[in-house]
Amino acid sequence: MFFNLFEERIPANRCVLCARPEADALCAHCRRELERCCALSGPLCRCALPAPGLQPGELCGRCLRQPPGFRAGYCDWAYRFPLDRLINAYKHQGQLPVERALETLATGAPLPWPEADLLCPLPAHWRRRWVRGFDQAERLAAALARHWRRPLVPLLRRRRATPPQQGHGRAWRVRSLRHAFQALPASRGRRVLLVDDVITTGASLRAASHALYEAGAEEVRVWALARTLEGSHR
Ligand SMILES: [Zn+2]
Ligand SMILES: [Zn+2]
Repeated sequence: MFFNLFEERIPANRCVLCARPEADALCAHCRRELERCCALSGPLCRCALPAPGLQPGELCGRCLRQPPGFRAGYCDWAYRFPLDRLINAYKHQGQLPVERALETLATGAPLPWPEADLLCPLPAHWRRRWVRGFDQAERLAAALARHWRRPLVPLLRRRRATPPQQGHGRAWRVRSLRHAFQALPASRGRRVLLVDDVITTGASLRAASHALYEAGAEEVRVWALARTLEGSHR
């Protein structure tokens, strides 16, 4: 039985998914369930979509038509039940036990790009951050930076509010995002691992990567906790 994460406060010392008394935020049973339901396996394209049969360095058809802007995308989890519920509960309520559970999932793997100089969170606009009281990508990036022993350097600023990306066509999204980000001059010559919580269309990450390259970044790659699979090759 999963908690109704949207309505209940999650008590401490319980599994965030099944409410079993548990010292960790996720019990071993739910952890196995999450792996069964949500772990991504097999080759991923640069856009972090599963692409069976793709050789290293090859791009999926969608990326051939519109390159993602960053050099590689890393993601271990599919954004589907029950992980989507956890991420949403965290986004909207910022509950600490959920944060701990997501951090456990995020830091389960070694740094996928050992040459990275630094981690940079994809910034939420201040207005959305103000409504929520925190920035989930930034908190996730901070946990990863501690875990992977890389500096956390916020190199990006949002230029203006961009409306939520879901429910709009691609052309609309590209237009609304073209100048959404500004990268600091300190980006010059750096190998930047951009961190976000969920890759949906990749449009924000593409725009942010362009801004970093324009500011002189040597290489930009992307890490996200989860990937939506609509439009996947399966
Ligand atoms: Zn559990
Ligand atoms: Zn692709």
